[in-house]
Amino acid sequence: MNETGTNSLEGQSALVTGASRGIGRAIALHLASLGAHVGVNFVANEEAASATLADLTSRGGSGELLRFDVSDPEAASNGVRGFAKSRGALDILVNNAGLTIDGLVLRYKPEDWERIVNVNLGGAFHCARAAARSMVRARYGRIINLSSVVASMGNPGQVAYASTKAGLEGMTRSLALELAQRGITVNSIAPGMIDTEMTEALSEDVRAAYLTGIPAGRLGSADEVAFVAGFLASREAGYITGQVLAVNGGMYV
Ligand code: NAD
Repeated sequence: MNETGTNSLEGQSALVTGASRGIGRAIALHLASLGAHVGVNFVANEEAASATLADLTSRGGSGELLRFDVSDPEAASNGVRGFAKSRGALDILVNNAGLTIDGLVLRYKPEDWERIVNVNLGGAFHCARAAARSMVRARYGRIINLSSVVASMGNPGQVAYASTKAGLEGMTRSLALELAQRGITVNSIAPGMIDTEMTEALSEDVRAAYLTGIPAGRLGSADEVAFVAGFLASREAGYITGQVLAVNGGMYV
């Protein structure tokens, strides 16, 4: 039940990739709280994914675990299609799974480039492609991609990561145009610095340096990103497509 007393995603099914922790976990919990049945995708950490699902169901939500590697085209396609088939439809796909492999360009390894592109960009493509098949049939769908503020502002040491996120925004716009006539919206959320395990990995010095560049004076929370995902996933947001919504406390405007 949401704040207004309605379950706006009641009867819908949603798949969130990389949902065992961080932003993906928060989005899975939020979409379930709005009434969606949520596929909690994970690749390795079954314990954390099970904890997300347990949390979700203990709050009255409904969901299931879906194990697959988004960077594996066949596994991703089978995972998304299998979920859509078993639920009868896939209304919402959130391409959240992602990783950072930071390093200055002169020392960056080609295999790290390949890995980050395959997960951050390839993963979103494989899942969106499989989801689109089901959504086109239903003439309804919401695809939400997790980009990053660095897609627009750039960041030294994140050439590869920023490239994948900028690519994701291009994918968002092109997919939005291809699918608009079928009642499907495709949007990106571009978070700034959000307090998750991904940013916990940064040293205190680096975190402090980032903070000076955030007008809001604090890191964002995963719940603040999840709220925006819930909005973009709603039926009522049907006229918003091809957009990048920044959730960054003013870090880049
Ligand atoms: P996180 O590292 O806590 O979570 C990412 C999740 O993706 C993990 O659960 C991981 O297991 C999963 N994942 C990685 N590779 C996968 C694969 N091949 N298949 C399936 N799942 C896989 O990160 P987070 O901070 O929660 O970030 C979530 C998303 O938001 C990412 O796409 C990230 O790039 C983006 N983002 C995060 C921030 C931030 O400040 N935390 C800022 C901007 C963008």
